[in-house]
Amino acid sequence: GWRSRAAFKLIELDDRFELIKPGMRVVDLGAAPGGWTQVIVKRGASRVVGVDLLPVDPVAGAEIIEGDFTDPTMAERLTTMLDGKADLVLSDMAPNTTGHAPTDHIRIIGLAEEALYFAFEILAEGGGFVAKVFQGGAEKDMLNTLKQAFALVRHAKPPASRKDSSELYVVATGFRPERLKDIL
Ligand code: SAM
Repeated sequence: GWRSRAAFKLIELDDRFELIKPGMRVVDLGAAPGGWTQVIVKRGASRVVGVDLLPVDPVAGAEIIEGDFTDPTMAERLTTMLDGKADLVLSDMAPNTTGHAPTDHIRIIGLAEEALYFAFEILAEGGGFVAKVFQGGAEKDMLNTLKQAFALVRHAKPPASRKDSSELYVVATGFRPERLKDIL
């Protein structure tokens, strides 16, 4: 069985966008308790690394790093473990929420933007990026950056995501590293 309800969101995103392909190198940011990591392995990725602040029970076929993805050594550790750059960087990360919607929105967009800048360091040309965001208005800058850096940028709210939550996912594919000089 899947370790999290969240696993169904990735299954739905992957069924719709065909993100995970056999042989891929995939990074799963915010992996605990490991549901997405299980799905990534099951869908045939060949090298999978999950990263979380919290411990994650072992997932056969994946490696886990317990730590903060913003740790300055993380990009190099990941590309060493993957034996190359990543084809796909997924982030289901969420910050601790305050219950104050505008604050929570700013925090999650901040985290998603950090994940994006981190993905720029480790993604291979043509690679994909998926991150959880929340609807609420402060995501324009991030969308502009995504549109510059990727061939195709879409949004999705998977059916398994609770209707009363404003959570949705950005799905960006076709990474164009040559565009970074205009962004960074
Ligand atoms: N996708 C997971 C699954 O299917 O089991 C669920 C992920 S859970 C919604 C979000 C996770 O993001 C939490 O476990 C949290 O510890 C992690 N997280 C938040 N900030 C992080 C950071 N800076 N570095 C690593 N993990 C982080």
